[in-house]
Amino acid sequence: METRVAVIGGGYAGIAAAFSLSESGIPVTLFESSKTLGGRARGLDCNGTRIDNGQHILLGCYRETLRLIEKTCRLPEPFFRMPLELAVDSFRLRSFPLPPPFDLLFGLLVSKGISLSEKLGAIGFMAKASSLELQADISVEKLLECHEQDSRITNFLWKPLCIAALNTPIEKASARVFLAVLKDGLNGEGSDILIPRVDLSSLFPAGAAEIIRKNGGEIQISSPVRSLRKSAGGFEVSTDSAGRHFSHVILAVAPQHIGRLAKDLREIELPDFSYQPICTIYSQYPETIYLPHKMTGFSHGLAQWLIDRGEGLIAAVISSEGKHLALSQSELASKIHEEIRGVVPGLPPPFWQKVIIEKRATFSCTVDVDRPEQKTALPGLYLAGDYTAGKYPATLEAAVLSGIKCADQIRLSL
Ligand SMILES: Cc1cc2nc3c(=O)[nH]c(=O)nc-3n(C[C@H](O)[C@H](O)[C@H](O)COP(=O)(O)OP(=O)(O)OC[C@H]3O[C@@H](n4cnc5c(N)ncnc54)[C@H](O)[C@@H]3O)c2cc1C
Repeated sequence: METRVAVIGGGYAGIAAAFSLSESGIPVTLFESSKTLGGRARGLDCNGTRIDNGQHILLGCYRETLRLIEKTCRLPEPFFRMPLELAVDSFRLRSFPLPPPFDLLFGLLVSKGISLSEKLGAIGFMAKASSLELQADISVEKLLECHEQDSRITNFLWKPLCIAALNTPIEKASARVFLAVLKDGLNGEGSDILIPRVDLSSLFPAGAAEIIRKNGGEIQISSPVRSLRKSAGGFEVSTDSAGRHFSHVILAVAPQHIGRLAKDLREIELPDFSYQPICTIYSQYPETIYLPHKMTGFSHGLAQWLIDRGEGLIAAVISSEGKHLALSQSELASKIHEEIRGVVPGLPPPFWQKVIIEKRATFSCTVDVDRPEQKTALPGLYLAGDYTAGKYPATLEAAVLSGIKCADQIRLSL
């Protein structure tokens, strides 16, 4: 059978896979069930403003994602990029223009809001983190205890970093994955914070889709795949309108959607994850309103981060499980407005607010979490997605890396 690859799912993983295959001239068809590409990282319209289905932050260490964005995004400067700057309550940390790791070590030394002994303790741990190898995985909480990080530095620094990166509370989060993020993320430009200037569908999926089409590939939006079966020499992929044959399939849907699609494929082991939510509350104020910092952290309020999107639009992010989920959307929105008022005195009421709760934003990145490999037991079938095997937690970079890995493996198999 002639090589023709179906990619099922048009999130960052599926698009990275399709883009990479199309660059090598391999015929590819991408099926996406929704009318917008991007999956969990997609743009949407709200009261005439482009927002995202959840506020996203990228890091300088997201090398493959940034490489693909550079190749596909039409905007010359798609990000607001800044050196790591943490403002969590009274704690202030800013990386310095020094070679790594001195940029952050020096930043910690002159940070504000913690005592000298807390600074030295954190510096000692940060200096060790890049070479720490764990014999067995433990929780991030245990790791911090073993390295005598006290509760203040944990609350101001490690807890916000862990929740932002792994979307899992420190008492459950995997220390092995946390250390992998620290090694790459706290290393020179790797720690830079990148806030997209455009919505997440325009940042990568839209430009990539255009190039995939130019290279002869097909992108089928509003085309949910209903079934996936083995057929002679490959697979039959069926949508509402047709069944088509492909030599290879990359299944790039979120883990909770695999079961329905792969029900006829006994060789596929279904991932068994628990999930963590992420809640984003957008508040639109007059254009003249802005936050004192582009990104501000809180360790005591409901919002963990406030991000200034410009032109009066402020996104509040609450990652992971917590008491906030018991509140109604209007209670959540008004509490967030109060918290913003705490950092912007004289704040007027918002023109509008939008609460978006993604209940299954990411898998829980727990101790020893078992993630499936991209290559499955069924020749020709691959899994792409932020949950598949890799050193990063569920992030855009994990998704993109998994898609590229599937494409590489297909190329190798030809
Ligand atoms: C609110 C929120 C905030 C986040 N913040 C960050 C952040 O700050 N930084 C970061 O790096 N990551 C962040 N993430 C994580 C990041 O969004 C994900 O890791 C990434 O988008 C996952 O991409 P994916 O392609 O693996 O999966 P998905 O984006 O879930 O893509 C799967 C696609 O498959 C499609 N699909 C499903 N079933 C079918 C079918 N039968 N047929 C065809 N198509 C189908 C879906 O519609 C979807 O488009 C956040 C996630 C959320 C939800």
